Amino acid sequence: MNLKDHIREVPDYPKPGILFYDISTLLAHAEAWNETIERLAVIIEKEKPDVLAGIESRGFLLAAPLAMRLGMGFMMIRKKGKLPGKTISYTYDLEYGTDTIEIQEGAVKPGQRVIMLDDLLATGGTMEAAIALMQQAGADVKRVACIIELTFLKGRDKLSNIPVTSLIQYD
Ligand code: 5GP
Repeated sequence: MNLKDHIREVPDYPKPGILFYDISTLLAHAEAWNETIERLAVIIEKEKPDVLAGIESRGFLLAAPLAMRLGMGFMMIRKKGKLPGKTISYTYDLEYGTDTIEIQEGAVKPGQRVIMLDDLLATGGTMEAAIALMQQAGADVKRVACIIELTFLKGRDKLSNIPVTSLIQYD
């Protein structure tokens, strides 16, 4: 099955001149979505992770079914102020200003093997920050897995040699 056929390309979203790769059409197709999860599960299982980490919000759509499928837990990496209790946070630079992401204290234990999940890798800025946050908490980040990679943006070069798996590439 060609998963690319199930990605909708939306021009001028969220801003004029940007082509947005929409995974809603993939989610809506039971067979294609099942295949997406199965293909990622095979790759992730080999890393023998202790926990999966999903990045808000579309990363959760991957982390939840994969964690169930592989019989392990998953944790949420969220924007600042969304998680109750004590948190660990990481602030990173954007084109204009900064952004902060958080995890709950205790969500990952030092030395645990973690796989990072998001729907799409573009410039790699989001993933770079998420990895830094996990490493700050002592996690051993083993791999990044995503559905789509915009290879022409070279996001994976930002990820300090952590291997990246993507099922669909645009170059
Ligand atoms: P980056 O930080 O790598 O430049 O951007 C990746 C983040 O932005 C991911 O969290 C992803 O969900 C979101 N993103 C950016 N562009 C797109 C797109 O075209 N389609 C989708 N589905 N997400 C995008």
